[in-house]
Amino acid sequence: MTSDRFDGRTALVTGAASGIGLAVATHLANLGAAVLINDLPGEALERAVETLPRASAVVADLSTRAGAMELADVAHAVDILVNNAGFQHVSPIESFDANRWDLMLAVMLTAPFLLIRGIVPGMYERGFGRIVNISSVHGLVASPFKSAYVSAKHGLIGLTKTVALEAAQREVDVTCNAVCPSYVRTPLVERQLADQARIHGLSESEVLEKVLLTSNAIRRLIEPEDVARAVAYLCAPESWSMTGTVMTLDAGWLAH
Ligand code: NAD
Repeated sequence: MTSDRFDGRTALVTGAASGIGLAVATHLANLGAAVLINDLPGEALERAVETLPRASAVVADLSTRAGAMELADVAHAVDILVNNAGFQHVSPIESFDANRWDLMLAVMLTAPFLLIRGIVPGMYERGFGRIVNISSVHGLVASPFKSAYVSAKHGLIGLTKTVALEAAQREVDVTCNAVCPSYVRTPLVERQLADQARIHGLSESEVLEKVLLTSNAIRRLIEPEDVARAVAYLCAPESWSMTGTVMTLDAGWLAH
C-alpha cells in the first residue's frame, strides 16, 4: 500500500449521505477503500451508494444506543472509523429543549463512544486502525446559543485523547484523532444561512460575511473536500505518529 492508497482497507463513515461525511466517503473510496456508508434511511443514502465504487449502505439511527451498537456489530471489522454524523441546534440555554440536548449528545458523543467501543477491539487484534472524530472549532471554543453542540464537540475531543492513550498502551498501530473545521459549505451550514438571513433580514451572502465568517481570518467557507483530504491524511499508515491530536481546519479562527 502506498502512502495515499487504501486498497484492501475497509472504512465506516457515519452520517455519510451528505456534506462532510459524503466527501470523506467519496475520497476514501476513490483512494481504494471499501466504504460502509451509514446514515438515516432516505434517497440521499441510496444516491451516495449508487455513485461510489465499493460502497455499501448501513442504515442506523445513531440517536439510539441500539442503533449505534447494531452498527458497531455490522462494522466490527473495519480498519477506519470516521465518526461524522451530527447536527446543529441554536437556542438560548434558558429555553434549550432538554430532549434536543439528549439527542445531540447521543448522536455526537454517545454514538462515537459506542462505535469505538465496539470496533476498536478488532483493530487491536489486527494491529491496525485509524479513528477520526469530526469535532469542530466548537470543540475548542464556544459560541453563544450552541450549548449542546459545543458541549458534545468538546466531549468528543476528550474521548479522542483518551482512546489515543489507551490504544498507544497496546503497542499496536491504532490511532485516534479529531478534526476541527470552522464553517464548511454543507447543507448543515446552508440551513443556518437561510435561518439567519430570515432572522436578521439580510441576504444569504450578507449573513455569510457579517455573521458566519466574522471569526474566520480567511473569510471563506471551507469545502467538504478540504476536510476529506485531512481525514485521509490521518488515515494513512505513515501517519502513525499522529495520535490524540486535534487537527484544526479553521481558516485562522483560533489564531486571533
Ligand atoms: P450534513 O447535515 O450535511 O450531514 C450530516 C449527516 O449526518 C446527514 O446526512 C444526517 O442525515 C446524518 N445524521 C444526523 N443525525 C443522524 C442520526 N441520528 N443517525 C445517523 N445519521 C445522522 O452536515 P455536515 O456539515 O456535513 O456535518 C458533518 C459533521 O461535521 C457534523 O458532526 C458536524 O457537526 C461537523 N462539522 C460541520 C461543520 C460545518 O460547518 N458544516 C463545521 C464543523 C464540524
